[in-house]
Amino acid sequence: MCGIVGYLGEREAYPVLLKGLKRLEYRGYDSAGMALLNPRGELSIYKTKGKVAGLESFVNGQDMSGSNGIAHTRWATHGEPCTENAHPHASPSGRLALVHNGIIENYATLKNKLQAKGYAFRSSTDTEVLVYLIEYIQQKEHTDLLTAVQLALRVVVGAYAIAVIDREHPDMIVAARKSSPLVVGIGEEEFFLASDATPLVEYTKKMVYLKDEEVAVLQRGKELRIVDLHNIQTTPEIQEVEMDLTQLEKGGFPHFMLKEIFDQPDCISDCMRGRIQPAEMRVFLSAVEEHKERLLQARRYVIIACGTSWHAALIGKQLIEHFCRIPVEVAYASEFRYAEPVIGAEDVVIAISQSGETADTLAAVEQAKRQGAFIYGICNNVGSSIARATHTGSYIHVGPEVGVASTKAFTGQVTVLTLLALTLSREKKTMDDQLFEKIIRELSLIPGKMKQLLTLNESIAALAPIFTYARNFIYLGRGYSYPVALEGALKLKEISYIHAEGYPAAEMKHGPIALIDAEMPVVVIAVRDGLYEKVLSNIQEIKARQGKIIALVTEGDTEVTRLADYCITLPPTLECLEPLIASIPLQLLAYHIAVCKGKNVDQPRNLAKSVTVE
Ligand code: GLU
Repeated sequence: MCGIVGYLGEREAYPVLLKGLKRLEYRGYDSAGMALLNPRGELSIYKTKGKVAGLESFVNGQDMSGSNGIAHTRWATHGEPCTENAHPHASPSGRLALVHNGIIENYATLKNKLQAKGYAFRSSTDTEVLVYLIEYIQQKEHTDLLTAVQLALRVVVGAYAIAVIDREHPDMIVAARKSSPLVVGIGEEEFFLASDATPLVEYTKKMVYLKDEEVAVLQRGKELRIVDLHNIQTTPEIQEVEMDLTQLEKGGFPHFMLKEIFDQPDCISDCMRGRIQPAEMRVFLSAVEEHKERLLQARRYVIIACGTSWHAALIGKQLIEHFCRIPVEVAYASEFRYAEPVIGAEDVVIAISQSGETADTLAAVEQAKRQGAFIYGICNNVGSSIARATHTGSYIHVGPEVGVASTKAFTGQVTVLTLLALTLSREKKTMDDQLFEKIIRELSLIPGKMKQLLTLNESIAALAPIFTYARNFIYLGRGYSYPVALEGALKLKEISYIHAEGYPAAEMKHGPIALIDAEMPVVVIAVRDGLYEKVLSNIQEIKARQGKIIALVTEGDTEVTRLADYCITLPPTLECLEPLIASIPLQLLAYHIAVCKGKNVDQPRNLAKSVTVE
């Protein structure tokens, strides 16, 4: 997820672009860059690794004149975060500059074709392929910029929001989108462009939100023109947008955490994009494809992680053991590294970390590597230390997570682990076709079910004030729901500072039941799965001791509903995919309780986002 800004008009573009980038920095901060067309008709590109402030110091003292420009703040998906991979990317002749937000899925095929024609690439991004392709079409077909962009986008598979400028057309920006957002701001004799309205509202209220496969032609002295990829023109729908700037960066949400909870349907689609093809009943992970033998011959898997990622690991263990019949151990990275682990060349170690910088996990990876294990990383941040230290891996592609309490990274990790288990099970032939098809089909429905779940936000917000009195909480679940209970308890601890513990529901009677009284809220994940009846008995035991039961139930449930004090109803899904559904209401519950208690949800005390200390 990157941020794009553009400006074309009478003002100097540089200050507008710089300010815009700062507003969009929440979308990524791996690198920042800008391309300006100056009054002498020269196209200059400035870019650096790291944050926008770094770009500002880098260009300090340079001639930044020009009233046509595009800029970008990057969250890397393809190619590590470095200056060469920073946007804008230039075409081979240097005539064009392009910024992009999204993923060009067929970039490898396009790149091979262009390489065969003699083109040499300077970066390892998917984006650079697109700007090369546009120039190639311009030259081959002798077309103008707009036509070349349209033709190029017709062969591109994937998601994009792009803006392109051309030294030969200094009074024009061509922009387009599909799946990634792009907004055009219309001023007096000037145009603005950005990934969201944040950078634009201080200049104009008139916005045009581009639709999929629309191309916007911004030209000095002319009206905004919108066409599709086949040049059919439509009338721009201009909206009057009034916004409170402080809200905007969070997309209108009061906190990043809530925004990130709501991002999950899109994030999970992004995470699965290009990896599952329900129509063909296919799952594809390039890491498995490339290292099939090593992954299939392993004696056992060991998953190492910390915090929320450790909970995802517990789900991964169940998935891999159930579907692939490979023994899996889960270890806290911090314990693993000091435990003289019995690990060697026959083992595969999976390291999970959102930031990819978690010091304990990184140290555990190094330890396992020294002992000869094959290491598979599951990270969010591209090019992070863990991603570099591992032999292979899969990114979760959920975009930057700003809220310290992890939400969308957790569901992203669980999604990748599910895809991994499915891919391995195909190779090992440990799952029959029918079950495989059922899971794939259901997996593709998960983003829609998550959307449905998010409509519960208000009713969960209404539940929260009832529990602000509590000093303790218990979370219970069995099977796949047990790690979900642990994660629910962790969320509550992290942001509301209420002490909460998760247990496997049947463990209650071996100790924790002593804690139950009329003051104790107990969250029970009582969805309709193979262990439903057992959980029902556990609920009876709590009820007999006057505990306050908040139950997560499946649509149509009557039995638990009758016993529980409060119910949250979930759409039905397969047992193995339940964590992707059940974790969302628990994130919302923790969030609203913390808000009711007046806590700093996005930056809870004593915690940090990327734990780079041991
Ligand atoms: N795929 C592009 C890159 O890695 C754009 C990234 C994005 O939009 O997140 O540079």
